[in-house]
Amino acid sequence: MSSSLKILLVASEVFPYAKTGGLADVAGSLPSALKKLGHDVRVLLPKYPCTESQPIRSLNLEIEIPNSINKATLFEGRLPENVPVYLVGNDTYFNREHIYGEPGTEYSDNAERFSFLSQAALESCKALDFQPDIIHCNDWHTGLIPVYLKSLYSGKKWYSNIRTLFSIHNLGYQGNFSMENFSTTGLPDRFAGSDGIEFYGKISFLKSGLIFSDALNTVSPRYCQEIQTAGLGFGMEGILQQRSKDLTGILNGVDYSVWNPATDKLIADPYDSLPKKQNSREALIDKFSLKIDKNTPLLCMISRLSNQKGIDLLMEASENIKEENLALVVLGQGESKYESFFSQLSKSNPNRFALASTFDDTLAHQILAGSDMFLMPSTYEPCGLTQMYALKYGTVPLVSSVGGLDDSIQTFDGKTGTGFKFAPNDKNSLLLALKKALACFSDKSSWECLVNNGMAKDFSWDKAAIEYANLYLDICNTASSHKTLQ
Ligand code: ADP
Repeated sequence: MSSSLKILLVASEVFPYAKTGGLADVAGSLPSALKKLGHDVRVLLPKYPCTESQPIRSLNLEIEIPNSINKATLFEGRLPENVPVYLVGNDTYFNREHIYGEPGTEYSDNAERFSFLSQAALESCKALDFQPDIIHCNDWHTGLIPVYLKSLYSGKKWYSNIRTLFSIHNLGYQGNFSMENFSTTGLPDRFAGSDGIEFYGKISFLKSGLIFSDALNTVSPRYCQEIQTAGLGFGMEGILQQRSKDLTGILNGVDYSVWNPATDKLIADPYDSLPKKQNSREALIDKFSLKIDKNTPLLCMISRLSNQKGIDLLMEASENIKEENLALVVLGQGESKYESFFSQLSKSNPNRFALASTFDDTLAHQILAGSDMFLMPSTYEPCGLTQMYALKYGTVPLVSSVGGLDDSIQTFDGKTGTGFKFAPNDKNSLLLALKKALACFSDKSSWECLVNNGMAKDFSWDKAAIEYANLYLDICNTASSHKTLQ
């Protein structure tokens, strides 16, 4: 196996074409880092209305999908380093306002939509005459690709050497559908059972990815351990334990061409030090009409508003939090109970609390630049990216000690460390860490030391891309030797 690989990365969202969360950031930046290492990497995602914000061109290729009356038309765009991005067009499935459904809901035909995407990925490779060594599948939306290769495509010579890696970005989203949807997958009946894609009486696209891929990984070493336990395995822990020798954890990287305060075109006054960050803080205070002075730290959250993100804990601790000398700006959309909580908080304390209930990338950069601290109280967190972005922006993370948050943030001890951590779902632990952070903020020299530690951290993709490349190579080599043994 040559050390230069042909890689197809398939995802439901890829920044800057389509984004609802961290998956898009990874799928949009890992490929360019792999290209820099000399690999021929290409990316594939659906063509949604939002993807047209980027320059794309039609490839005039119409692709038949074996189990569908619908056809796919292919478009092409580029990521940095000239990485080709293929967009699968089909108006029936993808010409919709949202990627998965209205915030907090799912489209009722998601099983059909993402079966279509998985088959379209396999058919597109052939139509493009791009025969990948490995298909890197991401989350449940692409979970059928490995099983298709082992069923519908297993007798097709063109596909016989393609290997698969399935990356778990969030085990909490499983693509589980009622058994009636099995026929939409086009899979042979033998895959409907418990050694196939059946999961507690339903079908699970995630389970398919977990059991039929050649190897698995997730997005931080700590989460890799956590998902093999009943507490955070979401019912998949048994499968993951069985596959533990094929499962690794690679901490996500940061794309510093997008997330760097010194070069950020989305903020009014780029900066590279704590003193120069103050203009961004003033701008943010103005933007949200807050009434605070320099002694009041400004905290922020930039997050999907879902149960995972620990907002229940903030609701529980809100009376205590309000008593502290702090302000908080929240940028987030999601479940209505969480939106109403933050909305009430800001209405009753407009001088110190604000909510922007929208998805706005520019605002995310401005809020991160203008805040003193970044709060992420997740109940579980596969990797979390924004806490790593926050470090570079001199915005001190205050995070629960789970998953990638625990791996990427070290507790500040007065000299070393980059942030403050607390036990997940633990009000007292949160309040204690908050008090320590607030005390540190009022001690100018300690604060400066802490901020500088964070700004000096380097989580660039270079290291993680090498780990992915080595993993791909291992998969290709191991799987090929298995094949010769048969
Ligand atoms: P997750 O993938 O679980 O949503 P991550 O921390 O891994 O969480 O990634 C979240 C990404 O989405 C970050 O790039 C963050 O800045 C962005 N993001 C989350 N909510 C919003 C929002 N309301 N507006 C703009 N960007 C957002």
